[in-house]
Amino acid sequence: MSDIDNSSRPLVEVRDLRKYFEATHGLLRKVVGTVKAVDGVSFSIQQGETLALVGESGCGKTTTGRCLIRAVDPSAGSIRYSFDNADPIDIATVDKHQLRELRRSIRLMFQDPYSSLNPRMTVFQIISEPLLINKLVQNQSEARDRVQSLLQMVHLNPNKMDRYPHAFSGGQRQRIAIARALAPKPRFLIADEPVSALDVSVQAQVLNLLKDLQHELRGLTYLFVAHNLSVVKYQSDRVAIMYVGKIVELTVTEELFLTPKHPYTEALISAAPDPEPRAVRRKKRIVLAGEVANPADPPSGCYFHPRCRYAKDVCRTTEPPLRDIGTAQQPHQVACHFAEELTLRGIE
Ligand code: SF4
Repeated sequence: MSDIDNSSRPLVEVRDLRKYFEATHGLLRKVVGTVKAVDGVSFSIQQGETLALVGESGCGKTTTGRCLIRAVDPSAGSIRYSFDNADPIDIATVDKHQLRELRRSIRLMFQDPYSSLNPRMTVFQIISEPLLINKLVQNQSEARDRVQSLLQMVHLNPNKMDRYPHAFSGGQRQRIAIARALAPKPRFLIADEPVSALDVSVQAQVLNLLKDLQHELRGLTYLFVAHNLSVVKYQSDRVAIMYVGKIVELTVTEELFLTPKHPYTEALISAAPDPEPRAVRRKKRIVLAGEVANPADPPSGCYFHPRCRYAKDVCRTTEPPLRDIGTAQQPHQVACHFAEELTLRGIE
């Protein structure tokens, strides 16, 4: 587990976040509807904590992460961030000057280390760029010293800092991306599918590195965006499951895996590859019928009802609110009418 600081206010507090896009049609791009990519999402993250946002492609998890760094502007809601121990500021409404300051403290790490590193820049140039832009070093010599220590931190040979990205493997490139993200000494790192473009054999190395760095750089906080539950199982303190722009379940990782309360979570757990092959043979996969609902035209009632094997009449007409069915010590939020009645299967 991470070194979570529960004594103070959350580092990040998201309330009723929404991001809507216009759905257009034809050459004239006539507006024909609204895509509710993120639709009323709320969560908080303590300093030093790792929260994972998990769901299928198109569920809104990446858009949520991008709203948190204002890579896209939210349509509504607030994102309170406790910046440098000052009073929290609302990222959703800060001006450009404050945003520049914030982006030193909040860093986004991309999925694909092949396209996220400029092939015409050396590793030194890539990692030192945020240092020079933000005037965090005075000269080239200081920048080289800092890049050297960052490369050592991610277990890469500093003597290779003048090489270009193509000279490195996928796992090494992702280490370079991590070094670049950490260069301005951020407090909050948003990692968007950080290992999904990597071979399975190197995924664990990069995940372990991220975990070790969190321990070394005490207080570093992660939002981990992933489509695969098995990736976040050992990585996160809590997991939020998203479906069609909404959070449908949120609790501590162990509880989520052992006693899921939402049928969608149960299906995701059954589909997650298990590192123990014998367990894979025991586990019976739940195959979800149909496709993920269209966020421009979601179903009535519970958005998950067309794919849910436990659905009843009320599910087709009434949307279940996200409510807390846990304890004060261990909150467990779930959006299902039958969360208390269903006995769902977690990991065995
Ligand atoms: Fe399934 Fe109904 Fe629960 Fe939705 S509310 S997850 S349809 S049982």
